[in-house]
Amino acid sequence: MGIKAAGIVGKDASGIVTSLRKAYCDEWFAYYQYWVGARVIRGPSRAAAIKELVEHAEDELRHADMLAKRIIQLGGALVLKPEDWYAHAACGYAPPEDPFVRAVLAQNLTAERCAIGVYDGLIREVGGKDAATCDIITEILQDELEHEEDIEGLLYDLDALMKKG
Ligand code: FE
Ligand code: FE
Ligand code: MG
Repeated sequence: MGIKAAGIVGKDASGIVTSLRKAYCDEWFAYYQYWVGARVIRGPSRAAAIKELVEHAEDELRHADMLAKRIIQLGGALVLKPEDWYAHAACGYAPPEDPFVRAVLAQNLTAERCAIGVYDGLIREVGGKDAATCDIITEILQDELEHEEDIEGLLYDLDALMKKG
């Protein structure tokens, strides 16, 4: 644990850690949602969707890593048991029970929009209190904004393709 890191943030550290732990659980869910989605997805434009889903899965795992490092710097603990992720997460996990490309992408889009709301709120919460955390979550938010746009683009292409056929 980083004594100086936690010291700079002072009395706000424990509240920030609580929020980061929630985001950490959501990133693991997001990672798995993309990972498993890329394996089960079926339908038109499948290859293009898989490429994007696999990239996004890697991004979400990187986000979990970024959050883990900051939680530990602040003297916090990671949520060690996957069964506890449900209790902490804000956006949660939607199993891709319908493997059709539109259904999988719609679940991903909902999750991204939830994540964008969470990080936007988090930036307001830590702004002026913890510059280092603010940097990390701003970088993550940029990725989530890009993810939303990518999924919207895939859905747009799918609609165009299905109208033609
Ligand atoms: Fe993420
Ligand atoms: Fe994302
Ligand atoms: Mg992408």
